[in-house]
Amino acid sequence: MRYSRQTILKEIGEENQKKLQASKVVIVGLGATGSSSAEMLARAGIGTLILIDRDVVELSNLQRQSLFSESDIGKPKAVAARDSLHTINSEIKVDAYPLDLDHDNISILDSDLILDCTDNLFTRFLINDYCKQNKKPWIYSAVVGTKGMAMNFLPSSKVCFNCIFSMVEGLDTCSTIGILNTAPSAISAFQATEAIKILTGQKASRDLLHIDVWKQTLEKIKVKTDRKCSVCRGNYEYLAGKKQEILKFCGSGTYQIKGKFDYEELKRKLAKVGKVTDMGICFRFSAMTIFPDRAIIKAQTEEEAKVMYSQVVGN
Ligand SMILES: [Zn+2]
Repeated sequence: MRYSRQTILKEIGEENQKKLQASKVVIVGLGATGSSSAEMLARAGIGTLILIDRDVVELSNLQRQSLFSESDIGKPKAVAARDSLHTINSEIKVDAYPLDLDHDNISILDSDLILDCTDNLFTRFLINDYCKQNKKPWIYSAVVGTKGMAMNFLPSSKVCFNCIFSMVEGLDTCSTIGILNTAPSAISAFQATEAIKILTGQKASRDLLHIDVWKQTLEKIKVKTDRKCSVCRGNYEYLAGKKQEILKFCGSGTYQIKGKFDYEELKRKLAKVGKVTDMGICFRFSAMTIFPDRAIIKAQTEEEAKVMYSQVVGN
């Protein structure tokens, strides 16, 4: 009964419904698009959902992130989303991983399909590497303002994410542009639809979708392989942990670089060569504020920030 309105659809039917119920999908990022796509797939009866998110729910998320309510503020998003999905469909399995996806824990992506609902290029390049190497399908999505993009990357695709976006650098993660809550909803509708097509073995889109909900425009862009693409040549730098995650903050000249280092040892070492100001959870050294897992750096360019990081923290 639960899926009767879906199984009578000629696009689905009983056989495809069984395929959906036997499927396992990973959703990376439980923001607005991730919430909506996870909800649609849970309602559609995808057998297993794996939810990955490093953040906690904040009040400013409630304007658009449909799985959360006021009582979830402060909870890890992956956990709050899992609990919310359980109340929608208790017949499916939902696992929550409140962690930062990186090359060390990337094996949690092992599934039938991965949905990229993140807000950063670093994780997308990492997902692209993993999916190219392991021949897994994934669906990219990105939303800002009133616009959104989505694209399927299938094992049979001639083009990969790196072919299209390798030249993009220092992606804005600013909250200043804002976001209309209907834009991620619209992108999610396309993303979840493509997910159902892929999971049931039906023909899925190969175009880059671009929509603007405000202007009511929809474009399907044909994209070409980059013959020089390193990932397509089997060079998986993100998967090998050779790339650092660099975020540029709002305003000018502040970068965050994540890394693995001995925090206490670094603090002791730097105190011998310059002024270290201990702030409790972090310390300041020169133009850097260093946390146990990352450094916030004031610099003119991303390149300068990288150089400062490698000089002070090492690689
Ligand atoms: Zn490529």
